[in-house]
Amino acid sequence: MNRRKFLGAIGAAGLTITGAGKVLAGEKPVMGAAVKDIEGLPDSYAVLFDSNICIGCRQCEMGCNQENQLPEPDVDFHDPRIFEQIRRTDWKTYTLINQYDDEAPGLGWLYRKTQCMHCLEPACAHSCFVKAFHKRRDGAVVYDRKVCVGCRYCMMACPFNIPAYEYHIALDPLVTKCTFCEHRLLEGREPACVEICPVRAMEFGTRTEMLNLARRRILDNPDMYVDHIYGEHEMGGTNWLYLSPVPFPEIGMRMDLGTDPAGNYTSGALGGVPIITAFWPVLLVGAYAIARRKDKVAKEERDQYVSRMIAQAGPEVGRKLAERLSKTQELDQAAIEEEVRKALAEAAAKTESEEAH
Ligand code: SF4
Ligand code: SF4
Ligand code: SF4
Repeated sequence: MNRRKFLGAIGAAGLTITGAGKVLAGEKPVMGAAVKDIEGLPDSYAVLFDSNICIGCRQCEMGCNQENQLPEPDVDFHDPRIFEQIRRTDWKTYTLINQYDDEAPGLGWLYRKTQCMHCLEPACAHSCFVKAFHKRRDGAVVYDRKVCVGCRYCMMACPFNIPAYEYHIALDPLVTKCTFCEHRLLEGREPACVEICPVRAMEFGTRTEMLNLARRRILDNPDMYVDHIYGEHEMGGTNWLYLSPVPFPEIGMRMDLGTDPAGNYTSGALGGVPIITAFWPVLLVGAYAIARRKDKVAKEERDQYVSRMIAQAGPEVGRKLAERLSKTQELDQAAIEEEVRKALAEAAAKTESEEAH
């Protein structure tokens, strides 16, 4: 199947989506099942970050950069000008420290580390139709570059705005994010960023141990902490947990996510369906990517993917998507529009280039 035929086929599938969904409605959904049975993971590894302790030295950024053999940073790890703006993770920055101006007297600057939260029920995994992400029992949410088709739906689904994309790589760009130092976890070692921190702003242990430690710190020092462990329940819980002396929005953390796991919004027959209705152009590019990477992804997989997408479509889709958007507000409309714009531009450029040849 060449690219033109493939896109034509999937385009036709889109036009007849409701009817096809009815025909195939009995097909077992692919999303959600993989992570449902490990809810809680009390013995998985976790990290507790304490914003009361962090001094903003960015050693953790450097440790991560070295451990993961990432490129040189744009701004040196010792240059304080980095704090002039709030940053987010990108393809060469799996973790970063942002600085927040505390309004309460006496606390001075506050610092907060950002990286993948390693959600117990990750939205990225639920939303990925080729299962490039999965949650491991040791707590890490890991990414399989071999099966990723570059649709970037994980980027849109992540409520913490974490996955980044290698936009600068023309052929086969990949999604990047913190790995929880999965290779170190396999050896029972703490992540590199935790190990290098000179003031132990992060502690490492099981999720149960870290929750108990966090509770003890709050109980012992009620004047120093807000009475909340971020990540204990947010989005169904995460393996990275946070303590703060100020309300979490003051250190850039969302409190509007609720406690329902991502699977509640994306599981079942609706796992990948919002892609079809709301992010059709992105889906199209994702499908195209599968076809393009025919040497890496078997034809059977492509056919299965198309079948699944059709099977999962149905009249419930629009309602569920609207519900999800209003309930969690997890998708930043501007970011989505930007992603769709880029996806369309890429698709157009690729089409032009192919037609020119
Ligand atoms: S923070 Fe985002 S990328 Fe990390 S596991 Fe959760 S949903 Fe996935
Ligand atoms: S856990 Fe590993 S990959 Fe993640 S931020 Fe820390 S050092 Fe980087
Ligand atoms: S190394 Fe520790 S103290 Fe330094 S910025 Fe990172 S978390 Fe904060």
